[in-house]
Amino acid sequence: MQKLEQIYEGKAKKVFATEDPNLVIVSYKDDATALDGLKKGTIIGKGAINNRMTNNLMSRLEKAGIPTHFVEELSDRETVVKKVSIVPLEVIIRNISAGSFAKRYGVEEGILFDAPTIEFSYKNDDLHDPLLNEYHALALKLATKEEIDLIKTYAFKVNDLLKAYMKEIGIDLVDFKLEFGKTADGTIVLADEISPDTCRLWDEKTHDKLDKDRFRRDMGGAEEAYEEVMRRLMGDK
Ligand code: ADP
Ligand code: UDP
Repeated sequence: MQKLEQIYEGKAKKVFATEDPNLVIVSYKDDATALDGLKKGTIIGKGAINNRMTNNLMSRLEKAGIPTHFVEELSDRETVVKKVSIVPLEVIIRNISAGSFAKRYGVEEGILFDAPTIEFSYKNDDLHDPLLNEYHALALKLATKEEIDLIKTYAFKVNDLLKAYMKEIGIDLVDFKLEFGKTADGTIVLADEISPDTCRLWDEKTHDKLDKDRFRRDMGGAEEAYEEVMRRLMGDK
């Protein structure tokens, strides 16, 4: 599969056209951003880790009945995926309080919820990804009621599966962000990535942060944390 012209460059990935109009190639960068794009940096080796980790997890989710965009890993950093039109909603699931949840509601980080929560943000950089609910998403025609219901069902199922995969490797899945897209025939599939950039992952015993919070909060050791998750998940780097 050949890379043709670049159709998009985002903060963490580039997207290229291919000779097949239904397929694109995503190429993962080492660039990291945080604080609404204000903080910029590099996490060396992140692109390769996020690519391989996303593909590993999406393959397992697909086998467990979640339709995904994953098609074929081309190299360390590049993967062929189904081209989708992204539903402009960031879908966030939380199992434990952290990040913006803890800040918004004035609670400490680390509170285990009785049941997972779901929230949506409008994926719109100019508006700084504002929080919205289903009614707002419908009013803005970001998706249909049926699509939102399906996305919620998939998101909670992904949570159950990912939580179990992470538990096997001694990690608590605190929270994560998913994106869904629509293929040419209108099928809703899980898209984008699942990585330490988009999940909060805490070591179950030490509670060490093994995710992008190390970069966001200038804690140091981001490279090592990403490598550690990769090593536990895939038995290597
Ligand atoms: P951002 O746009 O937030 O800076 P990235 O750097 O990760 O994010 O860029 C990747 C872009 O590709 C995102 O906008 C994401 O929504 C989009 N994308 C992810 N999967 C697909 C796909 N299968 N088809 C088309 N676009 C996709
Ligand atoms: N997240 C993400 N992209 C975003 C916003 C959030 O991948 O644009 C992920 C983030 O890594 C965390 C979860 O979604 O795992 C919840 O993030 P939160 O709302 O707490 O926001 P943050 O603290 O990152 O501002």
